[in-house]
Amino acid sequence: MSFRRSMLRLGAAVLMAGAILAVPAPAGAADTFVAGSPGLGDPFFPLAGNGGYDVSNYSLRLTYDPGTRRLAGSAAVSATATQNLFRFDLDLRGFEVSGVAVDGRAASFTRDGQELVITPRVRLRAGQSFTVAVDYAGVPEVITDPDESIEGFVPTDDGAFVVGEPQGSPGWYPVNDNPRDKATYDFNVTVPAGLTVMANGVLVSQTSAGGASTFVWREDLPMAPYLATATLGRFDLTQYRLADGLPVYIAVDPTLSQASVLKKLPDIVAFYTSIYGPYPFDAVGAIVDDAKQVGYSLETQTKPVFDKVPDEATLAHELSHMWHGDSVTLTLWPDIWLHEGFATWSEWIWSEYLGQKSAHQYFNTLYNTPAQDTVFWTPPPGDPGTPAFLFNGTIYYRGAMTLQALREKVGDPAFFRVMRGWATQNRYGNVTTPQFIALAERESGMDLAHFFDVWLYQPAKPTSW
Ligand SMILES: [Zn+2]
Repeated sequence: MSFRRSMLRLGAAVLMAGAILAVPAPAGAADTFVAGSPGLGDPFFPLAGNGGYDVSNYSLRLTYDPGTRRLAGSAAVSATATQNLFRFDLDLRGFEVSGVAVDGRAASFTRDGQELVITPRVRLRAGQSFTVAVDYAGVPEVITDPDESIEGFVPTDDGAFVVGEPQGSPGWYPVNDNPRDKATYDFNVTVPAGLTVMANGVLVSQTSAGGASTFVWREDLPMAPYLATATLGRFDLTQYRLADGLPVYIAVDPTLSQASVLKKLPDIVAFYTSIYGPYPFDAVGAIVDDAKQVGYSLETQTKPVFDKVPDEATLAHELSHMWHGDSVTLTLWPDIWLHEGFATWSEWIWSEYLGQKSAHQYFNTLYNTPAQDTVFWTPPPGDPGTPAFLFNGTIYYRGAMTLQALREKVGDPAFFRVMRGWATQNRYGNVTTPQFIALAERESGMDLAHFFDVWLYQPAKPTSW
């Protein structure tokens, strides 16, 4: 995500003690059936995601009319039970739900806040695969985050700007909304003729009939729910392939000025491939919309969305997230520096590669900030404290400084082994900060406990490390 705001301050930060993983309860006796938990215990978003099952695929059939702002959806969610279940939840915000079926049989359901609580006709056994079909419709609710930014299915002049970090996805489809439950996605989206739908992955087909156009997109590689998009509106869509055959999709709102910066995309992708390892997905691109009311860009998988024509640093930032954030994804939201610190440092190293300002120079400029400027230095990047600080400036700047300081401590050979190893060994996975520290210690042969404590967890400006 592009930087949201740095000046937002709340009262005393709540210190979250360590990472608490919600471990699903053992199924117990084979004939014991439980209700899946309504959340997965994330310290910042405890109700995001649900217990008792693991999703493998979302198949979303959507129709949207920008005139009425009404979204009608039919979602098929394929999953495997991880517990014996008599009941389970999906996350869904707003909408009228007209029907829910499990394996083709009508199921009873209730609504409780963001929980769609489903009781199947036949109970589900641990290990059993099943499909939930949900029919729903309504005007999507725009979601306001703890940092006051907006997300979800956000209307624009000609369509919708669709972003889900960290909790916007239930604003447009029923979902196990937790970054740990990655799945493949199929999108079939119908809009009035003349509009274009940009979703994740590869464009399978585009057809028009009776004044409407239907776009079918498929994301065959694992995707965290918050990275899904179906941004739609008037777009000029350009398609081409990179030298290695990777399809590129560039969509630009025709009301915007020339987005010549997008010509840099192949070089940026090639550069990050050279330092982070193979590009993780089967498509790449950019969606450049006019959505100033949103005010940030997001690394939606395979095609970042931009609220305006990005500058080169922002384009590089979002593309680097394909490795750091999209392929290698945090387990718990307080570890967000593993996305934003890495993407910000990626901006710096791209600039350095071009022979412009070096990462060391970026570091120095920021390090000159006086210790008394606590708004700049706190909260520390490894411990945002509250979800309102998830996208605070320190997560980006001090997070990136942590990586540059690490580079200068362990030297370039070890540092670049760490960065490449992190992206390749954890491809499509979920990670934690202690795992990164362990890798850095392994590759450098150094004890880095004090280093990372000072840079990631101590609120004061680091002075010796
Ligand atoms: Zn970012």
